[in-house]
Amino acid sequence: MGILKKAVDLMLPRNCCVCGRFPDADGRIPYDVPDDFHICFDCLSGLIPQPPDRRFFLCLSEPYDGDPHPDLPLYMPFPYKGFFEKAVPSMKFHSHPELAQFAGRLLGGLMKKDNIGADLIVPVPLAPSRLKERGYNQAGLIASEASKICGIPYAGDVLVRVRETERQTEIVDNALRSMNVHGAFKVDPSFDVEGIEVLVLDDVATTGNTLHEAACALYEAGASKVLCCAVCGNRAVLNAESL
Ligand SMILES: [Zn+2]
Repeated sequence: MGILKKAVDLMLPRNCCVCGRFPDADGRIPYDVPDDFHICFDCLSGLIPQPPDRRFFLCLSEPYDGDPHPDLPLYMPFPYKGFFEKAVPSMKFHSHPELAQFAGRLLGGLMKKDNIGADLIVPVPLAPSRLKERGYNQAGLIASEASKICGIPYAGDVLVRVRETERQTEIVDNALRSMNVHGAFKVDPSFDVEGIEVLVLDDVATTGNTLHEAACALYEAGASKVLCCAVCGNRAVLNAESL
């Protein structure tokens, strides 16, 4: 950062990339952060992880008979409220990829603390049309940054979308959500995941259907174990005690 820009930054408040507000003098973060990355005190104070015993769930919020992977675990250390309720829409729809990277660093630190292990981290892929529109895959940015902190290697293009799907957030019915993503992913044949443990990551998990489908594709390609991971989500029921 140039000296002039630094001087201007000190004088002029910048808007928070989570809530968009210009904080007053008391609400500014008083330490150096990367260019254009500003989070106000109000938003930062809402950044509270779940207690350690409330970070593991079953991937599907509504398990069904005949599920080939009924015990699929989900590691999800933050609630979708407070900080992330505002930060997720901001990172996805308001061009703030740096928020995804920030979330990845937070997640990576917690994964390390919680002894989350795997041979590889892969993100849930975006549909090519949405990737073009947004310019980045937020799940890829989160996974890549988490990888640097927790030391699990990252590969961005292992999973591919086989077909376009509707936005899961626009479908209310759980059965329809499940059908919407059924068979949506496959492992790119140029990658070999045979016999390895894979952590598949998304930004948010609601019903868990998307992560579940991604995990099924990894198992079909020969992965020995799959752990699903989302940065945040709201689950009332705690149903998986360990990995
Ligand atoms: Zn804010």
